[in-house]
Amino acid sequence: MSAGTQIADVIVIGLGAAGSACAYHLAKRGLRVIALDRHHPPHDKGSSHGESRITRQAIGEGDDYVPLALRAHDLWREIEAETGETLMLQTGALVIGGIDGGAAHLGKQDFVRKTIGAARRFGIPHELITPDEAGRRFPMLTFRGDETVYFEPGAGLLRPERCVAAQIALARRHGAVIRTGETALKILDEVDGVRVTTDRGDYCADQVVVAAGPWVSGISEDDRLAASVSTYRQMMHWFEPVDPAEFAPERFPVFIWMHGAGAEDWFYGFPILPGTTGVKIADERFDEPLPGPEAQSQEIGPAASRTMLGRHISGRVSGVTDRCLRSSACIYTMAPDSRFLIGRDPGRERVILVSACSGHGFKHSAAIGELVAELAAGDPVSLLAPFGLETLSTDARRNS
Ligand SMILES: Cc1cc2nc3c(=O)[nH]c(=O)nc-3n(C[C@H](O)[C@H](O)[C@H](O)COP(=O)(O)OP(=O)(O)OC[C@H]3O[C@@H](n4cnc5c(N)ncnc54)[C@H](O)[C@@H]3O)c2cc1C
Repeated sequence: MSAGTQIADVIVIGLGAAGSACAYHLAKRGLRVIALDRHHPPHDKGSSHGESRITRQAIGEGDDYVPLALRAHDLWREIEAETGETLMLQTGALVIGGIDGGAAHLGKQDFVRKTIGAARRFGIPHELITPDEAGRRFPMLTFRGDETVYFEPGAGLLRPERCVAAQIALARRHGAVIRTGETALKILDEVDGVRVTTDRGDYCADQVVVAAGPWVSGISEDDRLAASVSTYRQMMHWFEPVDPAEFAPERFPVFIWMHGAGAEDWFYGFPILPGTTGVKIADERFDEPLPGPEAQSQEIGPAASRTMLGRHISGRVSGVTDRCLRSSACIYTMAPDSRFLIGRDPGRERVILVSACSGHGFKHSAAIGELVAELAAGDPVSLLAPFGLETLSTDARRNS
């Protein structure tokens, strides 16, 4: 059935973490919203799946992200109250690095030290604990004895599929038209608006928000964006525990552990979530960019989890067996300096691009949705200024 030409104030392309938040907040402001997704979110083809995402508020990636994380925690709780869903578990999070806190993570040098600095500057409750003390409190983790250990009790994890579903439900409740299984093919500028052509019809609006995750450069047809972002396949593994009770969220926190000087000498893990099995552990690999998001596959051989065991888990996490219960692949969309790209396209004022990944976007996405709605409504949005697209051409040159 053809969609015909439907009119809206804002069209949102993509309903993952970022797009579902944008659609919700735009509709909540009373704007007429049509939101499209090529798949049926929540799904496992993009970046917003895998049962859990770390959320923390002292953001070692940079102080610009801290206000987003602070606001996002309030919003996740509001969404829980409105939907009755449990989205966020504040299990606490450990960030573990070298003795001087100087390990790299997500392309950021001195990640632990920057985390501690952000916690102090923004008054975020935290503790610095000795490795001995950390070993006593969290006996499933084995410390060498020379680590810097940061603990943030208000940090924890989000349930990504539930967050996406909840925001789509709220967008609908506020009047947004949600169309899934429909692919946006082209965005055309018109005299008084934009036209989005899909595989099922045409939509016209004043503005369009492109929150297409790993597909962002394809649909936006922006050469600078295409030259600036790359996509990478990442893998997550769930290992069988000896005693699941040891990894219950009340006892076992989320952790990020940088154990060496190399960019890939780190991993992260989660407690076992209610109703699930297995201790989820993952790392980051940047061997080969994906030729495109459609090249992503969920086929993962046993060698990948064995590598994870040997490279990271062995000698550091006790109480997990070498039996991998399941694995899942997911896509990172990396921008220069692991940053976000959010703002009006400098060449096309009616197009707002939202590429908030670089491996750390989920926790912030609720706040990003609210800020993008303010931007679309014409309000000044200073918190998004650090993520603007103005520097894209410079970034693209630097990357080439
Ligand atoms: C393995 C992994 C671990 C991560 N861990 C963390 C973490 O611990 N903490 C954290 O904060 N962040 C984390 N992240 C990052 C976070 O998950 C991402 O930043 C976030 O999910 C990105 O969401 P998105 O909406 O931009 O993209 P997506 O979720 O991929 O959504 C994009 C949507 O657009 C749709 N779409 C694309 N093209 C079109 C089109 N032409 N027409 C219609 N629809 C279209 C797609 O179907 C998709 O649903 C992690 C990411 C991965 C992959």
